[in-house]
Amino acid sequence: MKENTSFKDLKLKSELERALTKQKYTIPTPIQLKSIPGLLLGKDLIGIAQTGTGKTAAFILPILHRMTEKYPRVINTLVLTPTRELASQIGESFFAYGEFLKFKHTVIFGGVGQGKQVQALSRGVNIVVATPGRLLDLMNQGKLNLRNIEFFVLDEADRMLDMGFIHDIKKIISKLPPNRQSLFFSATMSPQINELAKKLLKNPIHVEVTPQATTVERIKQYLYFVDQPEKERLLLELLKHEHLTSILIFTRTKHRADKVASFLSKNRISSDAIHGNKSQNARTRAIKDFKTGKTKVLVATDIAARGIDIDNISHVINFELPNEPESYVHRIGRTARAGTDGTAFSFCAAEERNYLRDIEKLTKQKIEVMEHAHHSETAKNAVGAAARPPPKKSFSRNSRFKQKSGFTSKNKKSFSKNYKSNRFKRSPKRR
Ligand code: AMP
Repeated sequence: MKENTSFKDLKLKSELERALTKQKYTIPTPIQLKSIPGLLLGKDLIGIAQTGTGKTAAFILPILHRMTEKYPRVINTLVLTPTRELASQIGESFFAYGEFLKFKHTVIFGGVGQGKQVQALSRGVNIVVATPGRLLDLMNQGKLNLRNIEFFVLDEADRMLDMGFIHDIKKIISKLPPNRQSLFFSATMSPQINELAKKLLKNPIHVEVTPQATTVERIKQYLYFVDQPEKERLLLELLKHEHLTSILIFTRTKHRADKVASFLSKNRISSDAIHGNKSQNARTRAIKDFKTGKTKVLVATDIAARGIDIDNISHVINFELPNEPESYVHRIGRTARAGTDGTAFSFCAAEERNYLRDIEKLTKQKIEVMEHAHHSETAKNAVGAAARPPPKKSFSRNSRFKQKSGFTSKNKKSFSKNYKSNRFKRSPKRR
């Protein structure tokens, strides 16, 4: 398919074309262009793509198209996804793209009572979008079965494994009939992911879109060297600027997310925090208030924000840098959805200096350093032990050894990584 192919050229059912027109989508995104033709032919697919690339429509459109060939009366499509928010968004997309078709879908996730979900299932649905834990629960209770599944999507497989869903996923897969079309999406590839994909897929087509570079290039990125205790004041000053209209702030921990949100609220800036300790209702409300502009700032941890589909985020602020450089790309990608530009500010304290090095290595870019009243030369020039967080106290069985040696399993891993990459031997470049 050529670059300038339109949705019309993909020969989707007229009801789907109508829905796309209503959404004002005329040109397929690269992943849609590469996936849809093969999927319409019934092929399995492995897609290396992250949220923001249009991957949801890339699987929903061909599945709905193929479902119209039979008009099943039972559950014949299952989409597994790691978070409740993603499940809800995928449900909304089935609703939008399937508006002119008669299929019924339901969304199943934990953290809320199961009553309504069970009711929806008993009324009869064709499509189930679910997170693994609750789905297994309901399967074990006999509330649904998967024996008629013809289309199966495993979304964000890498995140599923990170979140410890592997056993649940394997159990679910074992209940699927062998004759089905399977689609597998992951933002990254690893040996474990590869192994799972091999088990699941038969002779799949491979589609890879690498939005990282292009997305990262499109986003204006600025760096603020600042000592940790000064970060709140810097944040307040930045938020005074009028063009910061809708801001997503990232922290590494739930505790910090709450602290930042309550600091902002005290300073009369409408804000909310979302993270794993919040109830599902609180999270849904916070996202809705942010989407409608009722709150200006949403503070989130990486997992909570993963995949949240909010357009029009004017700024992403990394109040704390992520310890995984890939998360930086995911985070700032929230501000440049579907072709728009965005801006990302990152705060870097001395103890995060090594995280910054990892990020710049991954993105192959130097982030532009801003001059500001709270600038910290200490943060800018931190090296060695000062450039990484102090080891966490650990109270597990061999905590005495860990405390003595300064090793937790996590920093032990990063130590060996750093050691292998000779990071401790070189004197880092001054910026
Ligand atoms: P996703 O990667 O599926 O989360 O999609 C990212 C965003 O792009 C969502 O807001 C979609 O509604 C939007 N989108 C998906 N496909 C297209 C398209 N072909 N043209 C414009 N926007 C799209």
